[in-house]
Amino acid sequence: MIVILKPKTSEEEIKRLTDELQVEGVEVNPVIGKDIIILGLVGDTSKIDKDRIEANKNVEKVMHVQEPFKKANRMFHPEKTIVDINGQKIGGKKIALIAGPCSVESRDQILEVANSVKKCGANFLRGGAFKPRTSPYSFQGLKYDGLDLLKEAREETGLPIVTEIMSPYDIEVFERDVDIIQVGARNMQNFDLLKELGRLNKPILLKRGLSSTIEEWLMSAEYIMAGGNENVILCERGIRTFETYTRNTLDLSAIPAVKKLSHLPVVVDPSHSAGKAWMVEDLSKAAVAIGADGLIIEVHNNPAKALCDGQQSIKPSEYEELLNKLRPIAEAVGREI
Ligand code: PEP
Ligand code: MN
Repeated sequence: MIVILKPKTSEEEIKRLTDELQVEGVEVNPVIGKDIIILGLVGDTSKIDKDRIEANKNVEKVMHVQEPFKKANRMFHPEKTIVDINGQKIGGKKIALIAGPCSVESRDQILEVANSVKKCGANFLRGGAFKPRTSPYSFQGLKYDGLDLLKEAREETGLPIVTEIMSPYDIEVFERDVDIIQVGARNMQNFDLLKELGRLNKPILLKRGLSSTIEEWLMSAEYIMAGGNENVILCERGIRTFETYTRNTLDLSAIPAVKKLSHLPVVVDPSHSAGKAWMVEDLSKAAVAIGADGLIIEVHNNPAKALCDGQQSIKPSEYEELLNKLRPIAEAVGREI
């Protein structure tokens, strides 16, 4: 529900009305513009008497909002959200660079990749410790040992770590050890997990589900935000379509769409989108040009020997070249790398 106030309503009157509405058990988010003042009501508005509010002399109109997501909605929060992770920001002018292997495989591997991507200019290290694999016989990740190795790589490079959580049982460990908790495509609608993550004060990288609509994706963000955790970063990683040439189809149109609908930052994963290392460059260029706030890219020191997703991983030298090619594109759209 939104309450549109008359343009000349004083701050004192806005405050009085806000307090009055909060007594009804809803959260009130004021949006004070030059020509319009709106109070966005989040929560159960079913008991609020629309006519009674409209009777207030400062109220222009009360409207029910059609959109099902509220906290993630740009209407209630017109300015962009910038998520701050120990001083590294996602959503600002600078494009966030998240890079690393699909999976943590060994101490030497993760330290080598972490040092290389750091040298190239990456701001975050990615690496899966708990892997959601289609086959139960495939490498499942080093689990807690993998987390320890990521921590060692963070210690050595200073790069904050991004890694995927699969189960609500691991929340405490992830809260303590991880800088950005990734929710993978397969868990985008694991609502119990999302609710638990909503209780933390930790950035969450929420990947788009394999076959999820933009609205379903934003509703999953809403689950996390409804619990009080508003540090959500969206990640477009390709969706399943009838096309089989690529692993998934990168939905570039989702980036402007999500930016129009929501204030949350959105990063692009060109590696899982196409599933082909040779396409990472072109998809990254397109993502930066269309307004992505960051790129999460799989980089491996020896892709041919990778235990997971080697076919879509690029080498550190290719990552360095890629960033050089992306710089002028970022500049052309008012961003920087
Ligand atoms: C990953 O980032 O390693 C991963 C498994 O991604 P997704 O959930 O997008 O498939
Ligand atoms: Mn992968």
